[in-house]
Amino acid sequence: MQKELQIRVLPEVAGEAHLLEKYILDKEGLAPEDLHHIQVLRRSIDARSRQAYYNLKVRLYIGEDFEEEDISLLHYPNVSNAEEVIIIGAGPAGLFAALELLENGLKPVILERGKNAKDRIQDLKGINVDHIVNEDSNYCFGEGGAGTYSDGKLYTRSKNRGDVRKVLELLVGFGAVKNILVEAHPHIGTNKLPKIIANMRACILQHGGEIHFNTRVTDLITDSSSIKGVEVQDGTKFHADKVILATGHSARDIFELLCRKGIEIELKPLAIGVRVEHPQSLIDSIQYNCETRGDYLPPASYSIVKQVKDRGVYSFCMCPGGVIAPCATSPGEIVTNGWSSSRRARHTSNSGIVVELTPEDFKPFEKYGPLAAMEFQRSIEQKAWVEGGKTQTAPAQRLRDFIKSDVSKDLPNTSYSPGITSVELGSVLPDFIHKTLKEGFLQFDRSMKGYLTNDAVVHAPESRTSSPVKIPRDRETLEHVQIAGLYPCGEGAGYAGGIVSAAMDGMRCANQIKKENS
Ligand code: FAD
Repeated sequence: MQKELQIRVLPEVAGEAHLLEKYILDKEGLAPEDLHHIQVLRRSIDARSRQAYYNLKVRLYIGEDFEEEDISLLHYPNVSNAEEVIIIGAGPAGLFAALELLENGLKPVILERGKNAKDRIQDLKGINVDHIVNEDSNYCFGEGGAGTYSDGKLYTRSKNRGDVRKVLELLVGFGAVKNILVEAHPHIGTNKLPKIIANMRACILQHGGEIHFNTRVTDLITDSSSIKGVEVQDGTKFHADKVILATGHSARDIFELLCRKGIEIELKPLAIGVRVEHPQSLIDSIQYNCETRGDYLPPASYSIVKQVKDRGVYSFCMCPGGVIAPCATSPGEIVTNGWSSSRRARHTSNSGIVVELTPEDFKPFEKYGPLAAMEFQRSIEQKAWVEGGKTQTAPAQRLRDFIKSDVSKDLPNTSYSPGITSVELGSVLPDFIHKTLKEGFLQFDRSMKGYLTNDAVVHAPESRTSSPVKIPRDRETLEHVQIAGLYPCGEGAGYAGGIVSAAMDGMRCANQIKKENS
């Protein structure tokens, strides 16, 4: 027989199979020979009390053998001769849309401005070491999109658990560890993601899909009310009646193109702030109430939200054991974000700390219409570049100095490879963001004692937290409100925030296309 249990155990019990077995045998009064297997269904850490625990949901196989669940890939049909659907962008939204189209017997034709995941590495080195930003190949652009050289955190607030499970199972099918199906806060890591993405590409090609790298879409071919295809940078035209637009939150030229062509887009408020790096050991001691975290707990993370007057200030994309990455997509700007490896083994942790913005905040940029938030965002990134010395060196300040508006006399080395330079960040950030962040940090320290320390370094800016526009689509058909056959999709269009939700939105658009075709 099988029996499910919810248990709360010490970290060493969760981490050592023989201790877990002994705990369950004692708790259930079972004989060792009767307990054939313990399957962990769900694992989360509870660090709210002085002692950290693991909450485990387990299934016991009592007098019954366990059969490993086979998470193998679907049997996709060959779609070489099927109807073509163009997908612009090979991020999570584009790739999962392509897989769903394959499953539905339609042919995905992916057009991606960047390079394949492996060849991107050269350009990441270019930013990190030589301060050169390739506008088509960087941390945001290229195969796998912004998700490839990311932390690979896979949680989402989506209520649609069925689709979440499908995304996670596909990732496992393409090579991710099975643990992601069990952990409450799964993550993959930058070292593992490129191989998984390459396996997805191989599957799409093997079943008759097409992927064109180094292919930047520069125009949409439309008649008065429907899409007919797209044109790319060398003038080549690709024709199709269905186009999924999944170009991500940094595709400023696409937002400008839509504006120029009179295709409706809307301003969307976003959040902007800084990225702060702490010693991981400090975050561990705060979160786990201990001197050192020991062998059985992972590097601690945190998620914090405070209210400063009428604005939210919150942590964003926290990366335990991680690295701060230079994520600019054009020369002349500084953008930060974070990544970590699968083991999260570095001695530093970083997190975006951002301030919620409202449409009112973009008033000084109103001449840009729906692109006002984008221009506001760009102006901060450009200012940071100037203040940082006109390279990819980021302006930075120790955290206590940031609160006091003192220029830091010295700065430690941080994980941000292009280097940092001491700047009073009030000269980079708009005054209201600067003041709100200062008050936010003071409040954080009240909840996380020790957070406010000069061992922490603030890097500016964290500015690409979500898309600065929304591309409106019909709630039912998912097509653009003016252009039939055009499917705004994923984070760039304002329908996702993160890898899993972008992947799910890609699948939704693909399924809607299938529905319309049948
Ligand atoms: P994107 O991933 O942005 O993909 C868009 C693609 O479109 C890109 O490949 C781009 O090259 C291509 N494109 C753009 N314009 C054109 C054009 N004109 N023609 C052709 N192609 C074009 N999210 C998480 O959930 N967990 C994390 O841990 C996490 N960490 C992150 C770390 C970093 C460093 C970064 C940068 C992002 C991170 N994110 C994370 C965010 C996550 O990567 C995005 O939410 C997600 O990738 C959005 O998916 P998308 O497919 O909508 O867009």
